[in-house]
Amino acid sequence: MQNLYIKRLRTQETKRLTTTEFVIGRNADADFFIRGNQMISRLAAKIHYSNGKYYIQDVGALNGIFVQDARLPRQSKAEITEGMTIQLADEKFTLFVDIQADIQIDTQIDAQIQIEKKRKLCTHKWESAMVNSERIWFVCKKCGERKEEWR
Ligand SMILES: [Zn+2]
Repeated sequence: MQNLYIKRLRTQETKRLTTTEFVIGRNADADFFIRGNQMISRLAAKIHYSNGKYYIQDVGALNGIFVQDARLPRQSKAEITEGMTIQLADEKFTLFVDIQADIQIDTQIDAQIQIEKKRKLCTHKWESAMVNSERIWFVCKKCGERKEEWR
């Protein structure tokens, strides 16, 4: 997947388009939940990803969808790319590729891998953390792993 992001200009909220079907709307279940604007439909737009391209579709936006100031016919799709502006009701959204954010995400993944590696290599140093009449819980002082034993 190309690493495309969408930003709601009014609030600066930004979401990464991470799924093959990304839903935007005033519905808490939406991938991009638009709060505080009654003019935006519950299910306003869908962004599809296929064959390396992103497409936006009007799936019932009350006030239509504008891509680069051109109205998208209802139920039809338009290809969208980095640098474009989308308008839903009275709100504008921009599309961009954030290399810096990608590096941060990669760094987080790397850090997670390091923790997992460390955990595998650790010769645990157990310390009892909790006791009840049946069991003792231990935590490794070095890697944080937990185990429990019957008393
Ligand atoms: Zn350990």
